[in-house]
Amino acid sequence: MGDFRALQLRGEERRPVLSDVRLNDSALDPGSVMVRVEHSTLNYKDALAITGRGKIVRRWPIIPGIDFAGVVEVSDDPNWRPGDRVVLTGWGVGEEHNGGLAERARVPAEWLTALPDELTTAEAMAIGTAGFTAMLCVLALDRHGLTPASGPVLVTGASGGVGSVAVAVLAELGFEVTAATGRAEAERHYLRQLGAKDIIERAELEGDVRPLGKARWAAAVDPVGGRVLANVLSMIRPDGAVAACGNAGGMDLPTNVAPFILRGVSLLGINSVQCPPALRRTAWARLARDLDRGLLAAMTSSIGLSDVAETARRIVDGEVRGRVRVDIAG
Ligand code: NDP
Repeated sequence: MGDFRALQLRGEERRPVLSDVRLNDSALDPGSVMVRVEHSTLNYKDALAITGRGKIVRRWPIIPGIDFAGVVEVSDDPNWRPGDRVVLTGWGVGEEHNGGLAERARVPAEWLTALPDELTTAEAMAIGTAGFTAMLCVLALDRHGLTPASGPVLVTGASGGVGSVAVAVLAELGFEVTAATGRAEAERHYLRQLGAKDIIERAELEGDVRPLGKARWAAAVDPVGGRVLANVLSMIRPDGAVAACGNAGGMDLPTNVAPFILRGVSLLGINSVQCPPALRRTAWARLARDLDRGLLAAMTSSIGLSDVAETARRIVDGEVRGRVRVDIAG
């Protein structure tokens, strides 16, 4: 099919070198479906992989990019036909299987999800793994029984990718949203635009962890982890829940059992990478329904493949707001 453009990470874990290369199909991994990639994104995990600041890549060399959306070109699988619009997040793509920062990807058929008719491939990757994960958090809280009548909901890391989508979706669903951010001054207008009613400083959640604090929120979406998550757990109302999906603030969890045994608080773990296909279809359908397209555009910036290395550095340094889409042809 001719060669194609790709970014490729070479070298070793702590010192990866990112090159803009041309490859042919023999460089791709095995899989029954070939996809023409139209858009990918830069998530926090991509930024860790590309800068070498996190142990993400498990095979060298590799095309990075943990997600992509595009159009099926060739399929040996009866479930997919040329022309089908598809999205892929997770499954180890960009970690141990060549990923989305390329014009072409070859993957196992069962890793693909059909894109809902209402979403373009550009919108799907404005959402990306981060937005998909935000929706998995919302669905987990929904399964727990949370409704807007339960009380206010907290979103931490609110100006990041997961946080921005979580704020916008929860506000659209009628929840009273509190946004916690380390950039309250700079991002106040942005977070209000997404639908946050209250904005608090991240520092309020970074103090010493008490067994129980004032019970302020019915639930929370937390992409931050660490001391922030520990403090959030101590401030959840009786029988509430926290959907924990990230570690932007640390892997540790310096908490105690008080929130669980004295308030019946539940800690709901979210793993988007191995999420089963049926739940993926539900999450994408709900994103198509519950995420305002104007707000999605407002939280998204677009870059080309040539801008990836510099933008990855800015993401790990916490300088990027919302979502970053990579337009592969752009
Ligand atoms: P972003 O970089 O877009 O956002 C992370 C946000 O967290 C930042 O914008 C910032 O928000 C806050 N933050 C950054 N550094 C710190 C810090 N040191 N202490 C406290 N808060 C901090 O990343 P994503 O939204 O893409 O991902 C967020 C997290 O979720 C990551 O850990 C990622 O790996 C994880 N994740 C997990 C998935 C899963 O399957 N479980 C899938 C997708 C993401 P602010 O400035 O507003 O405070």
